[in-house]
Amino acid sequence: MTISAAPRRVGLFGGAFDPPHVAHVALVNAAVSQLALDELRVLPTGHAWHKTRTLSPVEHRLAMANLAFAGLERVVLDTRETRRNGPSYTVDSLREIQLEQPGAELFLVIGEDQARALTTWHEWEEIPKLAIICVATRTYSARAEGQFIAPKAWKSRFCMLQMPLLSVSATDIRSRIASHQGVVPLVGEPVARYIDQHHLYQTA
Ligand code: ATP
Repeated sequence: MTISAAPRRVGLFGGAFDPPHVAHVALVNAAVSQLALDELRVLPTGHAWHKTRTLSPVEHRLAMANLAFAGLERVVLDTRETRRNGPSYTVDSLREIQLEQPGAELFLVIGEDQARALTTWHEWEEIPKLAIICVATRTYSARAEGQFIAPKAWKSRFCMLQMPLLSVSATDIRSRIASHQGVVPLVGEPVARYIDQHHLYQTA
């Protein structure tokens, strides 16, 4: 008798992480435990086609992601998108990881704002075929409204993550730094120290 092993459960969590903050870490922890992931790959974006501002240099974003996510169990920093020429498309990363880990069940972890914009993503209709999309709500109103409404045909390929609503954003953190306010509670001590040492986000 052959006993087939359960498929490996692999999560992907992409972002600019400019800088990474406590809501990112909370989301990662929620995903690993609630989805029973064997591994969660954190993917800092290279060229973020959907952001209008120029991102901080990749070496800073990688160093901060390392500080923010290092030591979290089952979490791996995956730098592939920062090494890719041209725009960072999630669908490309999903396809690559599927080839690297055949048979694995993939989970794409995103915040609610990204979920709402999903239909603007490159080859968006391919994404639910490759991964189950797991959404964390970001605002009180979204939770009150019954949260993110997945397109009908995709219902079985979506799930919601339960995590406390944290209104923190990287945008707010950058503007706090530019106006000389402390951000340690929002990014943690190691990232705050890195930002300070490298004089990041000094101007709004
Ligand atoms: P910015 O303010 O610069 O747009 P951000 O805070 O949204 O940045 P990103 O690096 O763009 O951070 O986000 C990476 C992922 O984390 C996205 O899927 C985003 O929706 C999610 N995310 C960010 N902040 C939160 C939050 N407070 N609650 C839930 N998800 C979040």
